[in-house]
This record gives sequence, C-alpha cells and structure tokens, in this order.
Amino acid sequence: MGIPTPPYTGQCLCGAVRVTLTAAPLLTVACHCADCQKLTASAFSLTTMFPRDSFECTGALVTGGRHSAERQHFYCRSCLCFVYSEVGQTDRINLRTSVLDEADKFEPFLEVMREDKLEWSNTPSVHRYDRYPTSPEELQALMSAYSSWCATGG
Ligand SMILES: [Zn+2]
Ligand SMILES: [Zn+2]
Repeated sequence: MGIPTPPYTGQCLCGAVRVTLTAAPLLTVACHCADCQKLTASAFSLTTMFPRDSFECTGALVTGGRHSAERQHFYCRSCLCFVYSEVGQTDRINLRTSVLDEADKFEPFLEVMREDKLEWSNTPSVHRYDRYPTSPEELQALMSAYSSWCATGG
C-alpha cells in the first residue's frame, strides 16, 4: 500500500472540527474491545497515532465516552463525531482514522483486544494481540516495525 506524505487533513461529519497533521503517523490500530464497539457503534475502532506536536485541531469539542483523568475522548460539539483520544501522559494523540480525508490509506497494522472480537470481524492487521502490548518497549518496537512497513510499501 504505502501511505501519502504529510501533511494530512481531515474533518468531522459536519465539518465544524478540522484537523491537520504535519508528521507521519506513528502506528495504526484496530481495537476490538467492548468499549470501542459501543463508542463507535461498530465492530472495532480505528486509530492512527500521531505525535502530539504535529496535531492541530480547530472547532468546538466536547468530551465523552468513559473518560477519566488519564483517558479523554473528544467529539465534535455539533455533530458528536468521535475525533480523537488522549490516553495517559504521552506525547501522542490517537486520531480516529475515519476523520482523515484519506482514511483508506491508513489501514491497521496492529490489532488489539481480540478477546472481545465479534466472531466475524476481521482486519488485515500484521500484528495481533488478544489484549494489548504489555510494555512501552513492545509498543516502541511495533512503531518502528510500522515505520519500516510504510517505507517498504506495506
Ligand atoms: Zn461535526
Ligand atoms: Zn478499544
């Protein structure tokens, strides 16, 4: 496949929220967890991780989902489209891939929480986990593998 070169743009359903990403993505993920199924009204969520300092977002947002001090989900205030999440104290943001104008180019490289997976629901992910990668080092290794995968055209 191969991904386009940055910057990338995207918007919510109504267009009131617009995003711009000036860096290449760090990782693409499909999450099958039961929370994501409910949050997205679908079989799994699609995330494209970006460095926080490459992310610009304009338009009014509200928080929703099951949020806490360390987990915030942001939605367009007008159309309530799920835009992105911030999880923990990291320098990354988790953009919902469907917000991107070229969402089809960001196919999931990693698949997590397969233990909650709907029986029929499958993705073309290269790496698959019943739960989550267990350490920051493992996540880092997946991000490097994703970067090489993108460079070689997937
Ligand atoms: Zn909207
Ligand atoms: Zn999930």
